[in-house]
Amino acid sequence: MLTLTELKSLLATPQKIVITTHHKPDGDAMGSSLGLYNYLIQKGHHVSLVAPTDYPDFLQWMPNNAEVLIYTDKKEEATSLIQEAALVFCLDFNALSRINELGEIVRAAGAKKIMIDHHLDPEDFDDYRHWDINACAAAQLVYEFIVNQLEDKEGINKDVATCLYTGIMTDSGSFRFPLAGANVYRIAADLIDFGAEHWKIHQLVYDNSSEDRIKFLGYCLSSKLEVLKEFNTAIISVTKEELSKYHSATGDTEGIVNYALSINGIKLAAFIIERPDMVKLSLRSTGDFPANEICKKYFSGGGHRNAAGGAMAKPLKEVIEVFKSILPDYKTQLLA
Ligand code: 5GP
Ligand code: MN
Repeated sequence: MLTLTELKSLLATPQKIVITTHHKPDGDAMGSSLGLYNYLIQKGHHVSLVAPTDYPDFLQWMPNNAEVLIYTDKKEEATSLIQEAALVFCLDFNALSRINELGEIVRAAGAKKIMIDHHLDPEDFDDYRHWDINACAAAQLVYEFIVNQLEDKEGINKDVATCLYTGIMTDSGSFRFPLAGANVYRIAADLIDFGAEHWKIHQLVYDNSSEDRIKFLGYCLSSKLEVLKEFNTAIISVTKEELSKYHSATGDTEGIVNYALSINGIKLAAFIIERPDMVKLSLRSTGDFPANEICKKYFSGGGHRNAAGGAMAKPLKEVIEVFKSILPDYKTQLLA
């Protein structure tokens, strides 16, 4: 274990630091990680940011994105950086399985491990944690870590603010989810004061689609949407062939599940994708409906109550049948 005082005294001199985040990083994973990266380099630390896999084009514009090391491209370099680091920051995840092969490398490393996260059920691998499931984004927790714990509000420059704003904006559904309360709006206002250009960030993330992506979305909605009124559930499923027909790139499927959830009366939405080695599920729900429980129980996954994911190594058709077969058990909650 590491106390805040010990962590602060470590950070008082330049350290070798690695920041890592979850598999297939999203806006919060990259925003929180690059936000912390930009903060720590400014303090003179030797910092590396290792992402387990690639991530969408619409997240590749943040300050110092070019410095990000993708583990699958540079395994040896990433491994030695982790082995030599004094500190490893684990952002936006709390179980080492979420960073694939990197998980065991991080576990075995001599570095002190710092978890900054907002997911349920943290695994016990860290030495210090700033963990709060009531935070709408890991980027919010990085802001609090710098401002309240390190007491270094002045350390938030324009680059840090831009990245943290991106993380908070994306994970809060553009400031509309229940956890995006007044405190989050205050943090966002601070970040704008520190130089985050909110209008530009929104444009770079959300108005940055390829023509193929928009046509693919249209195809999913017009031809692949199945509404099960008797369970207030909507499903969109896509095959490998459909993905390749639209030249689907990393991130192109993100957000499609929300269209299914936006149908009047729908409480549970599933986006089911056939990937090369497994079928991946993305669930979204409204109100108290526990999407994460379904993912954990049936699809070796997890997540938040209203946004969760999992996977199954079975043919797409079977996975869809498994998903549908679960619904009767939840009928009361789905119709409530
Ligand atoms: P998405 O549907 O956007 O892939 O994931 C939504 C949320 O579900 C993520 O923020 C993450 O918390 C969780 N999640 C997605 N896939 C998995 C998985 O395979 N395992 C676990 N434990 N959580 C997942
Ligand atoms: Mn997050």
